[in-house]
Amino acid sequence: MTRIINNTQSSLESGKKTKMTLGKILLLAWQPLFLLIGSEIILQLVSITLSFYIKDIFDAAVAGNTEIIIAKAPTFIILVCGIFPFNTWLSYIRAMFVKKSSTILKQRYLKRVFNKNINEFQSSGIAGYINDITNNSNTLEEKYFQQMTVVIMSVTAFFGSLAIIISVKWQTLIFVVPSLGFLLFFMYKTGNLLKKPELKKASYLKEYTRYAKESLSAFRIVKSFQLEKRILRDFDQRSKDVQDKGYEIEKRATYLQAMNQLISGAVVLFGLLVGVRAVAAGAVSIGVLFVLVVAVSNLIHPILMLSDALPPIRSVEPIFEKMEQHLENQQTQKINKSYPGLKHQISLSDVSFDYPDIPVLKNANAKFKKGGKYLIIGPSGSGKSTILRLLRKYFNPDHGKIMIDDSQLKEIDTDSYYQKLSNIEQNIFIFDDTIRNNITLFKDVSEEKLQSVITAAGLDNLLNSRTDGLDDILVNNGADLSGGEKARIAIARGLLAEADIMLLDEPFASLDDKTAQKIEQKLLNLSDVTILNVSHVVFNTTKNLYDDILLVKNGQIRAKSEESK
Ligand code: ADP
Ligand code: MG
Repeated sequence: MTRIINNTQSSLESGKKTKMTLGKILLLAWQPLFLLIGSEIILQLVSITLSFYIKDIFDAAVAGNTEIIIAKAPTFIILVCGIFPFNTWLSYIRAMFVKKSSTILKQRYLKRVFNKNINEFQSSGIAGYINDITNNSNTLEEKYFQQMTVVIMSVTAFFGSLAIIISVKWQTLIFVVPSLGFLLFFMYKTGNLLKKPELKKASYLKEYTRYAKESLSAFRIVKSFQLEKRILRDFDQRSKDVQDKGYEIEKRATYLQAMNQLISGAVVLFGLLVGVRAVAAGAVSIGVLFVLVVAVSNLIHPILMLSDALPPIRSVEPIFEKMEQHLENQQTQKINKSYPGLKHQISLSDVSFDYPDIPVLKNANAKFKKGGKYLIIGPSGSGKSTILRLLRKYFNPDHGKIMIDDSQLKEIDTDSYYQKLSNIEQNIFIFDDTIRNNITLFKDVSEEKLQSVITAAGLDNLLNSRTDGLDDILVNNGADLSGGEKARIAIARGLLAEADIMLLDEPFASLDDKTAQKIEQKLLNLSDVTILNVSHVVFNTTKNLYDDILLVKNGQIRAKSEESK
C-alpha cells in the first residue's frame, strides 16, 4: 500500500487533497446546526400564524366585532406565551452550536499539529501554534461561529417576513424589492472595509503572544539581568498596537451600522406614508397595514443584522487560511514500508546534509551492525546530534542514503519505526504529572518491569526521597529535578521502550562518573539492541565494551576499526 503524507488531514484519510474551509467546519457540527435551523424555522411559522391572528383581531376591533376577538383570543394568547420559552430554547441551541463548532475547530487544529513533520514544526516556532489555538480560535468563535447564528436567524426571519407580505398583499413587494436591492448593494460595497484591519490585528496579536511566551520563558534571565523595564516597555507598545487596530475596526463597523440604519429607517417611513394613504383610500384594512408595516420592518431588520454579521464573517476567513497554512507540511514523502525490526545493519552511504546555510555532513559513510554498540564522538558542533536526528527521521539526507537493511529509511513508515526505536535526547521533556507516568509515558507497564528499569536507571534514590514515591507529581516541567535525575528518567524511558535500536544523545553529561559508568554498563549489556551513543564523556572502563568508536569531524564519520586497517 502506498500512502502519501501531505498537507491535510483529510488527505491522509482519503488519499486526495481537499481544501478545508470554515464552512466545512460548520458542517462537522451538523447536529446542533440542523437543530438550530429547524428551531428558527418553527419560530417563523409561529410568527406567521400570529400575524394572521393580529390582522383579524385588529380588523375585528375596528369593526367592533367582539365575537371574533373572543374566538381568536385563546389561541393567540397561547402562541404569544409559547414564544418566550421557545426563545430561551433558541439561545441555548445557539450557544451549543457555537461551543460545538469552536471545539471542533480547536480539536482538529491540535490533531493536525501532531501530523506536522518534526523539523517543520520546530522551524516555525511554538508561539504561532499557541496563538492559533488561543487568540485566533477565539476570534473565529466570536466573529464567525457566533455571527453565523445571526445569519441563520436573519435568513429565516427574512423569508418568514417575505411569506407574510406575499400572503397578505404581494403588491407591497413592488416598493420593498428596489429598496432592499439598494440596501444590499450598499452593504456589498462596504463589506471589504474591515478585512484588512482584522488581518493586521491578528498579526499584531501573534507577535504579542510570541513576545509574552518568550519573556515568560526567559523569566530567570529577565530577573537576574534586570531586563524588566525593557520588557514592560515593549509590551506596552505591542498591546497599544493591538488596541489601536481593535479601535479602528470598531470605528469602521459603527459607521457602517449607522449608515445602514439610516437607509432602512427611511424605507420604513416612506412605506408607512404610502400605506396610510392606501387605508384612507379604502384599498387595505388597518389590520393589513399594521401587519405589513411590522412585516416590512421585520424584513429589513434581518438585512441590517446581516450587514453587521457578514463583514466580520468575511474578515476572519484569511485568519483561518493562515491557520491552515501553518499546519501544512512542505515536505511530502512516499511512505510504503512498515518496519519489521532490524535484521542485519543500518548504513549511511555518502550522506550529505545541510541546515539552511550550515553544512554539516558531506558524503559521510558508516555501518552499524544489529546488536552492535557504537560510541560516537567528535568536537562540539561537528554533527553528532544531527546524525541521530537523521536516524530519527526528523530530516532526510540531502544526498546519499540511509539504509535499514534493504530499505531506505525515508521510505519506512514512521509509526512502525518509532515503535521499535528508543530515544534518549539531549533535551529531556518532563510532563507535569506523576513520576510513574513520566517514566512509562502513559503506557501500561507491569510493576515488575517498571521496577527493573528504575533500578537499572538508578532512580531508586530519587523515588525514596519523594513522599509519594512513583505517584509523586512533578511540576513546572521538572523544575524540581536535577539534570542527573532528568537524565535517569530519560534512560528509564529508553529502557522501557523495548526497542531494537537505541539512540542516545549525551545521556551521561549531567551524571557523576560512577553513576554514568554503572548505567552505561547496563545499557551495553542489552544484547539484541543496537546502540548508538553520542557522548563526549569516554570512560576507560567502558570504552572496550563498544564494538566500535566513530569520530565525526569535518562532515565525515571515521570508524576506529577502519583506521587500524
Ligand atoms: P553536535 O551534536 O556534534 O554538537 P549538531 O549536530 O547539534 O552538533 O550541530 C551541527 C551543526 O549544525 C552546528 O553548527 C549547529 O549549530 C548546527 N545546527 C544544529 N541544529 C540546527 C538547526 N535546527 N538549524 C540550524 N542549524 C543547526
Ligand atoms: Mg549534540
